[in-house]
Amino acid sequence: MDLDLSPEDIAFREAVRALIAATFPEGSPYDPKGDGDVRWHAALASRGWVAPKWPVQFGGPGWSPAQHFVWERETTRLGVPSHIGGMGMGMLAPILFAYGSEAQQRRFLPDILANTVRWCQGYSEPGAGSDLASLRTRAVLQGDHYVVDGEKVWTSGAHTADWMFCLTRTSDEPKRQDGITFLLVNMRAPGVQVSPIVSIDGRHMFNRVTFDGVRVPAENRIGREGEGWTVAKGLLTHERTGQAFVSLSLDLLRRIRLAAGEIPGSSGGLLIEDPGFAARLGLAEVELRALEITELRTLAEVEAGGAPGAQSSMLKLKGTDIVQRMTELFVECAGPYAAPWFPDVLGQPQTIGPDWARPEVIRYLEGRAASIAGGSDEVQRNIIAKHVLRL
Ligand SMILES: Cc1cc2nc3c(=O)[nH]c(=O)nc-3n(C[C@H](O)[C@H](O)[C@H](O)COP(=O)(O)OP(=O)(O)OC[C@H]3O[C@@H](n4cnc5c(N)ncnc54)[C@H](O)[C@@H]3O)c2cc1C
Repeated sequence: MDLDLSPEDIAFREAVRALIAATFPEGSPYDPKGDGDVRWHAALASRGWVAPKWPVQFGGPGWSPAQHFVWERETTRLGVPSHIGGMGMGMLAPILFAYGSEAQQRRFLPDILANTVRWCQGYSEPGAGSDLASLRTRAVLQGDHYVVDGEKVWTSGAHTADWMFCLTRTSDEPKRQDGITFLLVNMRAPGVQVSPIVSIDGRHMFNRVTFDGVRVPAENRIGREGEGWTVAKGLLTHERTGQAFVSLSLDLLRRIRLAAGEIPGSSGGLLIEDPGFAARLGLAEVELRALEITELRTLAEVEAGGAPGAQSSMLKLKGTDIVQRMTELFVECAGPYAAPWFPDVLGQPQTIGPDWARPEVIRYLEGRAASIAGGSDEVQRNIIAKHVLRL
């Protein structure tokens, strides 16, 4: 495996850096709450880079795995999103490529590419998370419409979404997976209700979504009736791919070093000199470097025509563990400055302490969910046990 970037990849890296610098010159960093996404989308569109992972025939740039690697590292390092378009771009589009009809592709893909519609994922239900096949949201075909009744939970971004890609039960087969159908539901349809669930970081990202007699045109079904499980499984592979968080952890490592080099430790010197802290940071770094090599090896295999398979579970499992440990170390750096960012403790966030402390506390809290979202750690271990260890 050749780990060095080729001259072409280095030229590509320079082009990525130039685009970011031209779009967000020094002093105007990417701001998701301002016009950051609009500017970034326009810049990406000007280069044909809006949908890095899409096949060329649907508007993707046709990058090699090495170019994807460079792209992810550089965008993370320079603080811009590696892709925009959310779940529509990263999760639904690959499903439309594989299972959507031409009419469905023509109808839904352009809006995803233009970043004008938001999608959410309606899989989990109360009692159907890891054991997704036990889902009960019912869809009954009446003429040319399905009538949908039931409830979804933990639906990220449902409150801002225009559409949901949704798993429904259309029949009660002996094998539960065979009675599931994949539907695209308009979130503005009568009978759809979204209620907020506020998470530990005080923010509203999750929702509970209920369906009460919601009418969904049969033409919004992806694949055949009862084929939803096959469609869903394909989608989950895309969800887990790229969840090693290596770029994020590398960036966290760099910034922890900077912060711990400014903060006093318990033994009189700086925190970075504290043997206990330094040992834990060093161990996390060694594991991160090993994960980075594993990710590179996986990329090389994919480049040679292989499929990642259970390796994506390994990358997610270890990547989640490391990113959580990095965020813990960062909160340790913040020490007492972490407290003001727990709204329940001190009310509104206070403006004391170093600037870097604030986002890191939120990231630490968010990071707890990474070992649940997209399949919990235990579920990933089950996959590895079955497909790698053949247990
Ligand atoms: C940040 C975040 C975002 C999410 N966004 C969405 C979304 O947009 N759309 C959506 O549909 N869902 C979403 N989810 C839900 C997510 O998919 C589920 O939380 C996840 O599948 C786990 O299901 P559960 O919460 O019902 O837990 P359960 O499945 O009830 O699991 C509870 C515990 O039991 C363990 N466990 C369960 N089964 C096994 C087993 N067979 N072997 C060993 N241990 C087991 C689990 O690991 C876990 O520790 C999100 C979750 C998070 C945290």
